[in-house]
Order: sequence, then C-alpha cells, then structure tokens
Amino acid sequence: MLFSEPAYITHVQRFAQIPAPYHVVSMAKDYFPEEPFGCRCGCGLNRLDPKLRQILNEGRSILGAPIIIVSGSRCERYNAAIKGAKHSAHLIGPDDYTHAVDIQVYSDITRADLHRIFTILGIRRFEVSDLHIHVDNAAWLPTPLLKAVTFKIVPGD
Ligand SMILES: [Zn+2]
Ligand SMILES: [Zn+2]
Repeated sequence: MLFSEPAYITHVQRFAQIPAPYHVVSMAKDYFPEEPFGCRCGCGLNRLDPKLRQILNEGRSILGAPIIIVSGSRCERYNAAIKGAKHSAHLIGPDDYTHAVDIQVYSDITRADLHRIFTILGIRRFEVSDLHIHVDNAAWLPTPLLKAVTFKIVPGD
C-alpha cells in the first residue's frame, strides 16, 4: 500500500507517509513495503534500525532477487520462547533499535558472494543456518561473527 500510489506523488510526499523511525533513511526504493520486520509474537514491537533497513534495500537492489524476512525485531519474551541468543541483536539494543534480521534469499548466488555484498554494505555479523541467514549490524556485540551452524549433511546431496 505504502508504495503503490499514483506516480505523481513525489518522493518527498511518499516519504512523509512512512512511519517513524524510517523518516531518517533516504531510500531510492523500498522493497519491503509490508513491514515484515515486527516481532512475530504480535506484541507490536517494530524497531528495526533504519540503517539496517537501508542495507537490506541496497542488498536487494544488488541481488535483483527476493529477500524474505523470516525474523526481525524480537521482544525478550518471544526471543526466549524461540531460544534466541541471550544477547541477540534481534532484541532492543542500547540505541533503542533492533539490529538483526534473518533472511532467505531466492537466488542461486553463493553464500560467499552474499557475505561479500552484505559486508561491503555494512553488515558486521553474518550467520548461516540451513533455515536462514542471519545478518546484523549490532556495533556493541563481538565481531566479526561469521558462522555456519546446524548444516545437515544429507546423504547423496
Ligand atoms: Zn513480541
Ligand atoms: Zn538472527
């Protein structure tokens, strides 16, 4: 809805409709109009760092392929329920924003190339599981994180 208005609406007008805190980010295009970054428990927490949102948009633009947001902001309760890391970057950080997303990328790009792109764009921590790729820009967490976890070796694969 946010980005399906008639073309005569200027970029500035359109930008003014974006809910805070996204005002502070200037984006040529927003690929994530459905606001999928909120806590999945339904508590209403939706505090993704605007810079991270910008990185995702730039990454999406470079990839030319869909990025599915599996998990964004998390409240403490939900993070505990899904056994997230105790100091997860999905939680509200010292700057009052959350700094992590778990994504799925529908592209044949290699994980190495994906890592290169996101690192150039400012992602400090990158974690690969068999379900998703975690990217975060939490400046206060140990870095760099580059982990491949929980890969299942499939016989014959
Ligand atoms: Zn929640
Ligand atoms: Zn994550």
